[in-house]
Amino acid sequence: MKKITNLRIIPLGGLGEVGRNMMLLEYGSSILVIDMGFRLPEEDMPGIDYIVPNIDYLKGKQKNILGIVFTHGHYDHIGAVPYLIYRFPFQNYPIFASGLTRAIILKRQEDFPLQPKLEIQKVKDGSKINLGPFKIEFFRQNHNISDNLGLFIKTPVGNILHTSDFKFDQNPVYDLPTDFKKLKEFGSRGILLLMSDSTGAEETGHSLSEKEIFENLDEIFKKARGRIIAATFGSLINRIQQIITLSEKYQRKVAVDGYTMKTNVEICKQLGYIKSKRGTLIKPKEISNYPDSKITLLCTGAQGEAEAVLMRITNREHPFIKFKKGDTVIFSSSVVPGNERTVQIMKDEILRQKTKVFHYRMMDIHAGGHAQKEELKEMIKIIKPEFFLPIHGQYSMLVEHGEIAKSLGIPEKNVVIAENGQVVNLSQKRIFIEKKPIPSSYVMVDGLGIGDVGEVVLRDRQMLAKDGMFVIVAVVDRQTGQVRGSPDIISRGFVYLRESKELLRDTRKKVIEIVNRAAGSSGAVNWSYVKDEIRNKIGSFLFTKTERRPMILPVVIEV
Ligand SMILES: [Zn+2]
Repeated sequence: MKKITNLRIIPLGGLGEVGRNMMLLEYGSSILVIDMGFRLPEEDMPGIDYIVPNIDYLKGKQKNILGIVFTHGHYDHIGAVPYLIYRFPFQNYPIFASGLTRAIILKRQEDFPLQPKLEIQKVKDGSKINLGPFKIEFFRQNHNISDNLGLFIKTPVGNILHTSDFKFDQNPVYDLPTDFKKLKEFGSRGILLLMSDSTGAEETGHSLSEKEIFENLDEIFKKARGRIIAATFGSLINRIQQIITLSEKYQRKVAVDGYTMKTNVEICKQLGYIKSKRGTLIKPKEISNYPDSKITLLCTGAQGEAEAVLMRITNREHPFIKFKKGDTVIFSSSVVPGNERTVQIMKDEILRQKTKVFHYRMMDIHAGGHAQKEELKEMIKIIKPEFFLPIHGQYSMLVEHGEIAKSLGIPEKNVVIAENGQVVNLSQKRIFIEKKPIPSSYVMVDGLGIGDVGEVVLRDRQMLAKDGMFVIVAVVDRQTGQVRGSPDIISRGFVYLRESKELLRDTRKKVIEIVNRAAGSSGAVNWSYVKDEIRNKIGSFLFTKTERRPMILPVVIEV
């Protein structure tokens, strides 16, 4: 019998995309889960709230799960917890996270009261845990959220280092600088595989220090005369703190609006990760009690999310906040790939309302939470891994990161570019992608449904969004198989019926012909065949007339 000695690294999300990070390490029948994030939908996914990792691979393997470890509290690392975790028998295995990460996960669970309570064990820099064949040591890494932990994992195959999202920051704000001594020590233990954050791999130079970002923001605050409206991610805790500190410096009150932002600020204040003077934070409703020059509004929506505060103000849908001349709007996070167009349209609309807009392209106030080329090089040089697997990022970022590793002398055959669903097989001697991928298609969350909106529903929505719908209601005599009267036509988003009388008349005539021909002969009538005939023939008829392909819904009523 062949003994399984190789380690399998299985990305379920986050490789080939920004967001939705989740990875499995499988050794024999032992599985370790790292992170469980979601991502925002793409622009052509109408109605979808989030996309979460596909966990079909774990079906029937639940008993093999040894535990889940979380690296940090960003939603692209923890956001899928309420959607996925109840699918595991999670009482049976431990979950580990840092103090802040744990608090954010647990707070969010309160929105899902029907789910059983989660137990999460707290870990911190230096914590060590043993899970079956995996011996894990957590170490702190700079990012733009506190309490971010990288993972050193001792496995029977060799040592693995998972960087989490990271940047090297010599001047972090409210955080300790990178512990290079510790990293070097890991390197000296001998690292078989380095898995490193690729989000910033296409950016040259160094990421900005949080101190520089702070100074850039200070410039904006110094010049602003009216209200400052700063939009960012609810989980970008560092940025939130910076904006509070600057507001205090310029005697501004801070109103926090947006659900995720409010809850995160609350948690972070409780745990001491966000500090503010007494009286600085006010309720959004109170902003009209102060002069504009004394107000900062901190809100969600810098990615153009439809339901977020910034979008509601932009569309004049916010109950009591409207943009006005003199407002300064700051987009303080970089745009996630796929959201560019929405953000652009929103920005234009904000400018039309006579405000001043600062975006990260103008000043370096963006997230900047990820190591860029020089830092990524440094990480590889310190760790000196045998094998290299770029993680977290669009495919182009992974490829670029792979090139960086090769430029530092890691042989090409030791660098693997893998995407979601591709199983990376690692032994002491070699790394390769297994031939057979595992399921990794999108699992979409729409309202209360998880995964019930699949390819078909989405295609329908895209079709409806593109060319509208066309409903044909035909009443057919059961005895004769002939259409009675004139078929009814209802159309939405296809053509304006009143201006298309001729087209409708011709369509009705065609429907009658099709039904009479298809159902007219004696014997039992195959109504689904009749409907298919209507759908296909009317579809191509409408296309020849309009070059549009609306969704056609034939309804046949027998009387
Ligand atoms: Zn992150």
